[in-house]
Amino acid sequence: MELISVIVPCYNEEEAIPLFYEEMKKITVKMGYVNFEIVFVDDGSKDRTLSICKRLSEGDSGIKYISLSRNFGKEAAIYAGLQNAKGDYVVLMDVDLQDPPSLLPEMFRYIKKEGYDSVATRRVSRKGEPPIRSFFARRFYKIMNRISTTDIVDGARDYRLMTRQFVNAMLELKEYHRFSKGLFGWVGYKTKWLEYENVNRVAGETKWSFWKLLLYSIEGIVAFSTVPLMLAVVTGMFFCCAALFFVVVIVVRTIIFGDPVAGWPSMICIMLLIGGVQLFCVGILGEYLAKTYMEIKGRPIYLVKEDNIQRE
Ligand code: UDP
Ligand code: MG
Repeated sequence: MELISVIVPCYNEEEAIPLFYEEMKKITVKMGYVNFEIVFVDDGSKDRTLSICKRLSEGDSGIKYISLSRNFGKEAAIYAGLQNAKGDYVVLMDVDLQDPPSLLPEMFRYIKKEGYDSVATRRVSRKGEPPIRSFFARRFYKIMNRISTTDIVDGARDYRLMTRQFVNAMLELKEYHRFSKGLFGWVGYKTKWLEYENVNRVAGETKWSFWKLLLYSIEGIVAFSTVPLMLAVVTGMFFCCAALFFVVVIVVRTIIFGDPVAGWPSMICIMLLIGGVQLFCVGILGEYLAKTYMEIKGRPIYLVKEDNIQRE
């Protein structure tokens, strides 16, 4: 029988894990025609997440856990899961049941019957989310798709079922700063999109503050587009043209009207503006440089403290 690996990144999720497990059990029974393994990746949780995973794994041989040495972030946890999943198919799922396991049979059918390489999900509504967050999220996807050649879908979740070939392609991408939503698009293959209404968390709190999301979006832009680097060139050219124009204006004015000393306030404004633009552009440059610096170190994406994965 074929095997589906379910990868579940968990960070301080002691309340959600038992609920998730119950829900998953129903699905595994329903999908009796295929085997399951659940890989819980404990992303350096500070609560009882690991001990709960261990306890579950004692009663069910289909449960694996990997505990990372500290909190590496969801992206790293996903990578750890992908590297250790043995399944012919792999599905990524949040533990908070925001990714409804009940969609799984349908997703699997698309891959088996219609020959898709991956089935991804997107939420059509952002119900239950602060409006300001939805607003910025929408802007982000708009800008992102304009400046990047990789297709990044608005509202896309990480909830996705993939074939082994797709997973191996994802594992080939060994970059340290991982922006999965972009990486999925980058590898290509045939993807089917399923849509569903947003569901709220069953338990616990979201791990994303507004600030964290903002940094994450900058990460996404830097990882998938070099257009911001062009900003310095374009604004530089604009200011050069403006300067030339003003030189001509001032020369002509001096010849015609003489040379009254005036215009200090406007001078200060112009200096501040140009100074600001310059710093901004240097900042963008610095962002790319910092990412390059981190990549070049070649540090591992995650470190494992303990697990129950059998290795040959
Ligand atoms: N998560 C993780 N490491 C982190 C933050 C989150 O493994 O540093 C996991 C978390 O346990 C959950 C999933 O990633 O299973 C999604 O997190 P969350 O529900 O907070 O994000 P949201 O659904 O609000 O986007
Ligand atoms: Mg969630």
